[in-house]
Amino acid sequence: MSGESTQTHEFHPDFKRSAAAAVADERIGIVFDRATRLNFDKRRAIMPELGRPMAIRELAARIKDHTLQNLDRYLDQLVGNIRKHGGQVHFAETGDQANEIITGIARDAGAKLIVKSKSMASEEIELNHEIEKAGIEVVETDLGEYIIQLAGEKPSHIVTPVIHKTKEDIAALFRDKLGIEYTVDPEALTAAARKVLRAKFKAADMGIIGANFAVAETGTICIVTNEGNGRFCSSRPRVVVCLMGIEKLVPRMKDLSVFLKLLGKSATGQRLTCYTSLITGPQRPGDFDGPEEFHLVILDRGRSSVLAGEYRPVLRCIRCGACLNACPVYRRIGGHAYESVYPGPIGKLITPLLASLEEYPDLPTASSLCGACLDACPVRIDIPTYLLHMRNDLLKQGRMPWTWRIGFKFWRIGMSSAFLYRWGLKFGRMFMWLLSKDGWLKWLPMDGSGWTDHRDFPLPAKKPFRARWADLQKQLDAEEGR
Ligand code: SF4
Repeated sequence: MSGESTQTHEFHPDFKRSAAAAVADERIGIVFDRATRLNFDKRRAIMPELGRPMAIRELAARIKDHTLQNLDRYLDQLVGNIRKHGGQVHFAETGDQANEIITGIARDAGAKLIVKSKSMASEEIELNHEIEKAGIEVVETDLGEYIIQLAGEKPSHIVTPVIHKTKEDIAALFRDKLGIEYTVDPEALTAAARKVLRAKFKAADMGIIGANFAVAETGTICIVTNEGNGRFCSSRPRVVVCLMGIEKLVPRMKDLSVFLKLLGKSATGQRLTCYTSLITGPQRPGDFDGPEEFHLVILDRGRSSVLAGEYRPVLRCIRCGACLNACPVYRRIGGHAYESVYPGPIGKLITPLLASLEEYPDLPTASSLCGACLDACPVRIDIPTYLLHMRNDLLKQGRMPWTWRIGFKFWRIGMSSAFLYRWGLKFGRMFMWLLSKDGWLKWLPMDGSGWTDHRDFPLPAKKPFRARWADLQKQLDAEEGR
């Protein structure tokens, strides 16, 4: 299980350190909790409109599984159709190759200014950084991404990248970077960004877009946005490049409707995202607009090894962000603590899968396995189960701390014998009692300190549940005269 590093420069992620810093910052918890709950509640309220939401989610999962099972065939079909429509197709095995291809296209086109709509794949490969290194200006045109770019930060959510910023933060940023008067009026702030971006759209030589879906049978790229910026990026510039991961395929146009129904609802609780654009190659005679050149760059970057292994269903992900909104860990620590393009529950899987478990050994363990992510996921990815499998991978690779290995060994022995389990509980309680004060533990050794550093731990009940249950049974039997 290894791929290419998420970062192109020297980078050593340390989730534990970042998560601890995020927990210590009360503001992060408040901002993320408020914003994620809003989308979480909206999703829950709108899903029943589907009639039988679970049946549609299961159908979406089946369509994705079928596509992934036959990915070679559908990729061939997509490529054939894109070429038939006059588009050019490029394959990139690594992020570096994708960056080279795209900067090469920009150079050949003599591009000075590129407008870009939101693309997680481009975040993965740090495309903007590479384009700027080539001396070309690139401007993010999704409002959230634009704010992030101005601030020189990274997105903290898959769908709402600027979720960590308040309107006061944005007001100060726009005052400093755009030279406008300080205002927290969202309309005035949006109008200021719109003015800058309109001028960029008009002057751009090249547009870069991502792909929410690619339809194999027609060679159509589908992008959804709430601001219409994707439409500008794909229709106004002379050259357009679409960067997509290999897993973005759906076989037929009628399959697309299943995913469009789910995506807007799961992401932001909208019936449908405001703008759904279908792009099929460059401008043809008689077309009102469209680019002269259309390039599709298909990115692998570790995806085909995921496809070949037990984690294949993870590639069903349609990047709706619903699992992030549902996750109690993400709500508390925010997106930046994961030190990855993909935060939250899906990030704990996809990041080690696309980069390496060696680089991100803490992510699979950063979960209470509560199952809220599975409950929210529109394509039914069983994230908790795959996290357990990944913990097992850590164990096999000898990356689990020795305290965990020994602890779980004892746990397994204890759980396999009723006698040992009972005595283990007795001794465990006795040990805790020695360390306790007034029924509470304020300090636990080794990994137990992860709990007691932040809160006290209660002593287990004097009489265990099994003994109380047996007493209750006896009492009931006595009452019934048995
Ligand atoms: S794992 Fe599921 S819920 Fe999470 S982003 Fe992907 S599709 Fe959405």
